[in-house]
Amino acid sequence: MPDRYAVIGNPVTHSKSPWIHAQFALATGESMVYERLEAPADGFRQAVEAFRAQGGRGLNVTLPFKAEAFRFCAGASERAAAAQAVNTLVLDRGKPWGDNTDGVGLVRDLAANLGRRLGGAQLLLLGAGGAAQGVLAPLVAAGARRLVVANRTADKAHALARRYGASAGGGYEDLRGEQFDILINATSAGLAGEAPPLAAVQFARGALAYDMVYGRDTAFLALARAAGAAAHDGSGMLVEQAAESFFVWRGVRPDTAPVLAALRGG
Ligand code: NAP
Repeated sequence: MPDRYAVIGNPVTHSKSPWIHAQFALATGESMVYERLEAPADGFRQAVEAFRAQGGRGLNVTLPFKAEAFRFCAGASERAAAAQAVNTLVLDRGKPWGDNTDGVGLVRDLAANLGRRLGGAQLLLLGAGGAAQGVLAPLVAAGARRLVVANRTADKAHALARRYGASAGGGYEDLRGEQFDILINATSAGLAGEAPPLAAVQFARGALAYDMVYGRDTAFLALARAAGAAAHDGSGMLVEQAAESFFVWRGVRPDTAPVLAALRGG
């Protein structure tokens, strides 16, 4: 019997994780199946326990359960504790243990796949929700010269920046024409066809714009291209965070390049 894994969330119908992990399993020869598990908004714990009781070995956790998954775990990695959120649950080693691979996924995509040096860069993180919180500690650790957090609700950005030791945090109006080399959109504005209100001048010469939303062109990416920046969606982060979860579960590191190419091609 192959080992069982799944992604749990609400909704999960459009999740690409089952396809990505199936590619990883095929390429590495790991004997596993990876399913979708939709839990009711108030039924996360019950769904995880039922999956575990049926022999499930691990789960990826997506919206809206990442913070609840952190509270559910008996233990967690340093990076999950920093994010106060879990996207990778390990269920086959005694008590439930949690990890968070989103931050390392983003940093790897920016550094290894897109060839950007984060050390010494001027970095802007847009948003102060779960996704921003999950990547902030690894971004700070990557050694940007300046790292500013901006959000529609300014107080949330200010609190996040202070908590994680970023350079500054506030509303979009506080940016006052400041320029950045790397601009990361961690808001869900793209899903509503909107973009955070940035001015073209805020994209430095040769800037890279990154939208964590994947599989669609967003208003933020269009704005970035119009300002002369290189524009990338979050597909690479999605595949890299999945590869890190796979490594956490199986101890095998899959090659991400062919999977990312196939995801973009299809
Ligand atoms: P969340 O906790 O609901 O936070 C949403 C954020 O977006 C908040 O900062 C919110 O600002 C802001 N926002 C929403 N609508 C906006 C608008 N019209 N204009 C400006 N700001 C707006 O969501 P999340 O978990 O952080 O997820 C954010 C996005 O990241 C999602 O689209 C998700 O798909 C994506 N994501 C991608 C990956 C990947 O692997 N590529 C991983 C994780 C997440 P307020 O605080 O003012 O409400």
